[in-house]
Amino acid sequence: MNRRIIPAQVGIFYIMGMSLINTIVVAGGTHGNERTGVRLVQKWMEHPECYNSLCSAKVDLVLANPEAVRLNRRYRDHDLNRAFSQTCLDVVVDPLQYEFRRAKELNALYGPKGANTKTDLILDVHNTGSNMGYCLILSTRDPFTMRASAVLTQEFKNAWIYYQPEERSASPYFGTVAKADVCIEIGPQQHGTLDAAIFEESERLVKRYLELAEEWNRGELQKRAPIKVEVYTQFKDLGYPKPQGGGPIQAMIHPELMGKDYRELKDGDKLFRTFDGKDILYHGESPVYPIFISEPAYYEKDIAMSLTTKTVEEW
Ligand SMILES: [Zn+2]
Repeated sequence: MNRRIIPAQVGIFYIMGMSLINTIVVAGGTHGNERTGVRLVQKWMEHPECYNSLCSAKVDLVLANPEAVRLNRRYRDHDLNRAFSQTCLDVVVDPLQYEFRRAKELNALYGPKGANTKTDLILDVHNTGSNMGYCLILSTRDPFTMRASAVLTQEFKNAWIYYQPEERSASPYFGTVAKADVCIEIGPQQHGTLDAAIFEESERLVKRYLELAEEWNRGELQKRAPIKVEVYTQFKDLGYPKPQGGGPIQAMIHPELMGKDYRELKDGDKLFRTFDGKDILYHGESPVYPIFISEPAYYEKDIAMSLTTKTVEEW
């Protein structure tokens, strides 16, 4: 049973300028071959007792891209998590590609994207092949997701905060259908597979978000002392070296950089290695902190890694 928030509490919190979290969507399978979220959602659908006493908000579970889940592929026709811009959602004719149709369905179910959305929070569970641990991706400086994610960096030894500011209307990500969202990127895990240790830790982490939403609704999370966090903020994506005019990539991630997500990269550090063994050095803004190093799904997007900057903040 889901307990609902009584109206009197709503009034109190609006006076304090804080909004309650009444509706949460836990999503898996936005990318069909990222199996931790797929299996977590399937498990919780079969066993609602795993999650339904953790918070008073209404919690919906969704396999976002069931067709891709069936195929055990990232997507069928188009990356679903690049189909939620307002422009895509506003297309009047029925789109030919499955994922654009599915994005409109999900938007009708949990949106509509914008100020009148039915959903306060989306927790969208993904996997990455990169060595990123439990990466909590925030698209906006929302007070609840900041607070809760800061708490989780204390509770989980391999949790990190990645801030990827998004203009919500233009953003193509599923999470931006809700008022606030956390995209939970978990790795390294090979796409299309499962890892028991990662599954169990991920389930624990998603549960903690639900419990912290309850703590927020009681007004207690807000009273905790500020937490010092390292915030990795999106700076820019870096492609693989390619010949002018196109063609196959000319180099690989440098072996000394492989797996070193969140580590400082300075001007002059080794970045790529060519196929005939030459080092290509990094030249640019410094220091930066690469993440999504060699993420397999990003080869088609021509992203070798994403560079971030790091700040220490109190959340
Ligand atoms: Zn994904």
